[in-house]
Amino acid sequence: EAKRQGRNCTRFFRRELDDAIRERLHVGNALRMALAEQQFELYFQPQIDARDGHITSLEALIRWHHPEGGLIEPGRFIPVAEEMHLIGEVGAWVIDEACRILADWREAGIHDIRVAINLSAQQLHQTELIDTVRGALDRHGLTGNDLELEITESMVMEDPDLCIEQLRQLSALGIKLAMDDFGTGYSSLSYLRRLPIDTLKIDRSFVHDIETNDNDATICATTISMANTLGLDTVAEGIETEAQANRLRDLKCDRFQGYLFARPMPAPAVSGFLRNYSIGT
Ligand code: C2E
Ligand code: MG
Ligand code: MG
Ligand code: MG
Repeated sequence: EAKRQGRNCTRFFRRELDDAIRERLHVGNALRMALAEQQFELYFQPQIDARDGHITSLEALIRWHHPEGGLIEPGRFIPVAEEMHLIGEVGAWVIDEACRILADWREAGIHDIRVAINLSAQQLHQTELIDTVRGALDRHGLTGNDLELEITESMVMEDPDLCIEQLRQLSALGIKLAMDDFGTGYSSLSYLRRLPIDTLKIDRSFVHDIETNDNDATICATTISMANTLGLDTVAEGIETEAQANRLRDLKCDRFQGYLFARPMPAPAVSGFLRNYSIGT
């Protein structure tokens, strides 16, 4: 009886496993299809100068228009793309598309705004990343100054020497480098010192309760003062209330990003937003 149950159990788990594999393969195929059929779209969320409120940059955030599933957020497919080793292709598309759109904006007279692009761990470990970025800049008549690339702490840990070398090359092109979700990974101040990073983005989990949670307020304050000491810019992510913005302004945070100012929006909405925004301030 126990043996039979064991067998059922194995069969059950095997079916679960098969389902999981099939699901992965299914999503993998769907992602390949999405690339071929242009189902991805970049949304853009403004970053604002904390002192005078002008817009400094726009972070590109990928969306997937799934034929049946509707609009899918990156948290649901970027990890699968990484697992299926499709992130290199998706990431190259993001870099090219962000540059293409930024070149359009430049043509329309929008200057002095950078585009920030999120990298994945695998992209950062692929040496062709440098050529991909340089190629996209050349193709669209841009320079490194037009871009900011966002990485996370844990990405670097796997092969720090390779990552540092890649980041140096990107930095040498004039590209700004930001550490995203700062404080949530395996922070190591010694790595931080070795990395050619320009900006720390304080994770939104610390911003969320900055008014009510003393620990979170301390983390924000400490991060900002450490960044100032190291000569780094700070961006606070996920600002939703005036009170949060005021606290962070008091702490001398440099830039703000969050729903309080704008949600991520499709590229065609950006020029209208910028027009109204400058009228409104
Ligand atoms: P992230 O880079 O930390 O991006 C910020 C996320 O916070 C975005 O979610 C944004 O919509 C959200 N957000 C911004 N302001 C607020 C706010 O005030 N409140 C709240 N609750 N959320 C806010 P999104 O677009 O779903 O992206 C999630 C993550 O997916 C990103 O986190 C990034 O790690 C990744 N991602 C997005 N686009 C790409 C991409 O093109 N390539 C790669 N590799 N990863 C991407
Ligand atoms: Mg980011
Ligand atoms: Mg973040
Ligand atoms: Mg992130």
